[in-house]
Amino acid sequence: MILLNPGPVTLSQRVRAALAQPDLCHREPEFGDLQQRLRTGLLGVYALDPACWSSVLLTGSGTAAVEAMLSSLVPPDVRLITLENGVYGERLTRIARAHRIDVTPVHVAWEQMPDLTALDDALAGLEGPVAVAAVHHETTTGRLNDMAAVGAVCRQHGVNLLVDAVSSFGGEAIGFEDWPVAAVAATGNKCLHGVPGAAFVIARRQVLDLTPSPGRSLYLDLAGHARAQDAGGTAFTPGIPAFYALEEALAELAEQGGWPARHRRYRALAEQLRAALAAQGVMPYIPTDDASVVLRSYHLPPGLDYATLHDELKAAGFVIYAGQGGLAEILFRVSTMGAIEDGDMQRLIAAFERILADRTGSGQQSQEGT
Ligand SMILES: *Cc1c(COP(=O)(O)O)cnc(C)c1O
Repeated sequence: MILLNPGPVTLSQRVRAALAQPDLCHREPEFGDLQQRLRTGLLGVYALDPACWSSVLLTGSGTAAVEAMLSSLVPPDVRLITLENGVYGERLTRIARAHRIDVTPVHVAWEQMPDLTALDDALAGLEGPVAVAAVHHETTTGRLNDMAAVGAVCRQHGVNLLVDAVSSFGGEAIGFEDWPVAAVAATGNKCLHGVPGAAFVIARRQVLDLTPSPGRSLYLDLAGHARAQDAGGTAFTPGIPAFYALEEALAELAEQGGWPARHRRYRALAEQLRAALAAQGVMPYIPTDDASVVLRSYHLPPGLDYATLHDELKAAGFVIYAGQGGLAEILFRVSTMGAIEDGDMQRLIAAFERILADRTGSGQQSQEGT
């Protein structure tokens, strides 16, 4: 089965094999070495200076990393502005509310880009220290939010960004120094091609040093994890097989040419599929210029409901993904993350062509895009 959902991804053989490495106690020096190699390797993906940045490993899914970042790095006297244009932006707000953070959402509809004027107004209107949290790649629609533009507004107000880069880390450019970033949350099982269970936050050391420990959460206490990991240990029992897989996945990424090569690979696959679907009259839900290379959303063609499309593709060996919320009736999503071979994409396109031809009679009926 080839997974075209936005994580977990189809594993390469070498990453799958890495899961079965020796049993390991996390209080032994071998674990400390593994943890240190991972922390260094994660900074290395974007060539970050370890003197300025710290990568903090967590056992959990991507949301654990986002929640650790927000609950730890927005102290009680700081207000938070969240940018919402999809499920994951709205989740930032929900996480903030769960931790009783004073949060002001800047909301737009899911198919739109973040409202920079409203962000500027919100920043101007709030007294005292403020942080801004935003999603880089909004997986709800496949929109790549223009973080340079968001960052420029933040910079004018002297505010740093907390970024959910869960579905972009390893596949898209991240402007750690430019946006300007205080911390980025991500996971091992999306663009890095590891397995679920190993998540991480990359934060400025200056920011972590000023962060109280414990803060609002004990398990997701980022500063506490950072201190334990800097001392060569770990606060709690880590998901060691997921760490093994992440180490192998990082080695594979580096050998393949790092994130820029992965970006080009994703782009080639995504564009191949877009062109093939466009030839069948199936159009992207958001303009390609605004879309990531990681995941694309497409209008469901008339006469074909999501369940039928999903089940027929699954019978052909592919798992695609539904739209969320109100989009479930309107679109389907295809991610190009994971160990996807050229032959997989050719078989996927052939399966789409067969299914679409069966539905529409000609396979050439056109449908209006947005
Ligand atoms: C996948 C994802 C998450 C985290 O989801 P988990 O199910 O917790 O791994 C968070 N943000 C974005 C943008 C995502 O795509």
